Amino acid sequence: MKEWIAVLRAADAAARWHVHQRRKGIAQEPYINHLLEVASLVAEATSGSDPTLVIAALLHDAVEDQEVPVEMIIREFGKPVADIVLEVTDDKTLPKDERKRRQIVAAPKKSREAKLIKLADKTSNLRTIAASPAADWSVNRRLDYIEWAKAVVAGLRGISPWLEQQFDEAASAAERSLNPPMAGV
Ligand code: ZN
Repeated sequence: MKEWIAVLRAADAAARWHVHQRRKGIAQEPYINHLLEVASLVAEATSGSDPTLVIAALLHDAVEDQEVPVEMIIREFGKPVADIVLEVTDDKTLPKDERKRRQIVAAPKKSREAKLIKLADKTSNLRTIAASPAADWSVNRRLDYIEWAKAVVAGLRGISPWLEQQFDEAASAAERSLNPPMAGV
């Protein structure tokens, strides 16, 4: 199958699987916006050279958020895609703090593909904190999230200067959104 058809099929599958899911932010964007943003970031970071990576990015939250069976991803999109998706899927049987701690520890050991998706995922999430934070997220919770995302990303660096720059800009924007503007000079 032509690669771009496979990428579109994955976008179609992601839209169906996440159809009722919304982002946590006050704007409640459809979840597919997040998936397309992450996929576009990794596609640009690799100059469109890796369709398997882009498909995995579109499906990166399918198992974790929608409990899509792994066998279904293997059948529809192949094992290489499913392996990357599993690599970026948290074990939801663990308590949240432990999952967050594990992401920091595991980041440097991930494959290049998983690192790119995680970097794009954190970039997208920090952009949302700046543009449309969740209504029930206190300032402290937002600060905690920014610090944690930076700690995870510290273990992902060295694979894509461009994507790392997108992350750094998103982190600065998220931090700026929590402070009053500098006094006029
Ligand atoms: Zn995500």
